Amino acid sequence: MSAFVDQFMAELKAKNPGEPEFHQAVLEVAESLEVVLDKNPKYRQAKILERISEPERVFLFRIPWVDDQGELQINKGYRIQMNSAIGPYKGGMRFHPSVNLGVLKFLAFEQVFKNSLTTLPMGGGKGGADFDPKGKSDLEVMKFCQSFMTELCRHIGQFTDVPAGDIGVGGREIGFMFGQYKRVRNEFVGVLTGKGLNWGGSLIRPEATGYGAVYFAAEMLTTRGDTLEGKTCLVSGSGNVAQYAIEKIIDLGGKPVTCSDSSGYIYDEAGIDREKQAFILELKNVKRGRISEYADKFKSAVFTPADKARDFNPLWDHKAECAFPCATQNEINAKDAANLIKNGAYLVSEGANMPTVPDGVEQFVKAGILYGPGKAANAGGVATSGLEMSQNSLRLSWTREEVDARLRGIMKAIHKQCVDASAAYGFEGNYVAGANIAGFLKVADSMLDQGLV
Ligand code: NAP
Repeated sequence: MSAFVDQFMAELKAKNPGEPEFHQAVLEVAESLEVVLDKNPKYRQAKILERISEPERVFLFRIPWVDDQGELQINKGYRIQMNSAIGPYKGGMRFHPSVNLGVLKFLAFEQVFKNSLTTLPMGGGKGGADFDPKGKSDLEVMKFCQSFMTELCRHIGQFTDVPAGDIGVGGREIGFMFGQYKRVRNEFVGVLTGKGLNWGGSLIRPEATGYGAVYFAAEMLTTRGDTLEGKTCLVSGSGNVAQYAIEKIIDLGGKPVTCSDSSGYIYDEAGIDREKQAFILELKNVKRGRISEYADKFKSAVFTPADKARDFNPLWDHKAECAFPCATQNEINAKDAANLIKNGAYLVSEGANMPTVPDGVEQFVKAGILYGPGKAANAGGVATSGLEMSQNSLRLSWTREEVDARLRGIMKAIHKQCVDASAAYGFEGNYVAGANIAGFLKVADSMLDQGLV
């Protein structure tokens, strides 16, 4: 680490103690940006790096609700409004017991760069609660979402801050939150994205993050004259992002062989085909079951339970050319990264946010594999949220083909920005540096234009 990054990180850690995920996300960006700051002293003078890593505003609030047994429950709710230099705050809501301020600050920070890369006018934000929807009845989820939105609705708005889904927040939760926003504020506006098709949602939004990660992979492969055709692909997660990454891998001729949830993973040597992918959607989105049920149904699959005592995840230890981590942060540790490389993987496209630990990222970059970091590779979700906002403003709905074509075009544009920025600053082929630099420049220049705010 250079003296500059060292000192910057020491100050950031002192100001934001006990937030390791936030420190990790900022460190990666600071390391990529040092050369940019050296070339452009104006960013240093205006303390852009210091300002961009400090949220513009943070809300932390109590969420009281009553469970089906009549027991009172209290959760913590958050919304981080990180940066609005290029547009209203935009970013998902996460409902998971692991949610805390540091996790949401890392996600909000990454969102700023990601949204900038999409080419659309969106600032960065993130929010959520330490609520676990797993095992809760629909009525409990509704009561929780209503209580959550009763407070949140004071702080968001179609021109201020437009939340979407993330882990634990899908169509059901967005529906309950939208209903409560409308009821309290008495306005029918596009204040959330990921809405149902009957009430302002966009076609392709549910598919967009997973599709986008696969489109980004296809773009990376194109630089080597290659395609996904016939490639064996490891996928983690079985939620929104994983489900549609699997679908698009199949569309483009690849063979997905794994998926997972927090209880373990399945390996299906025969490949996950369309029928099996439809089974996963039904299992996870309707029955809300566990991934082991896949192996009960399809005999070609083997289920391996998660084991916290292991120092690696066997999902990443299968022979494959491509990997699509689509579950959660830091799910690929240093050993997993080494296993992937050892087994011949030469492409990693991150559907999840920050799924690879820094040591793993370093190994991928050193090995010269095609490594698409989350802020570039999974930006298709928020980009399509941006397209949902455009359609809401126009009071029009675009066709599936039109939205998909725009999504593909945006993923191409993001890929080009990464390639161009990495080349311009001497990091050819390094998508981490490219994404950080390209995402930063647009926001930094806008912050300079707008003065010290
Ligand atoms: P989701 O539908 O809730 O699915 C999450 C999946 O990951 C589930 O299979 C879940 O298993 C697994 N998972 C979550 N936390 C885990 C943990 N700590 N250990 C092991 N497995 C875990 O969420 P999602 O929307 O697909 O999001 C997945 C990732 O993509 C996240 O990193 C998210 O930030 C990122 N992302 C999402 C979007 C979007 O549009 N949704 C956009 C950009 C990035 P269980 O059900 O057992 O917990």
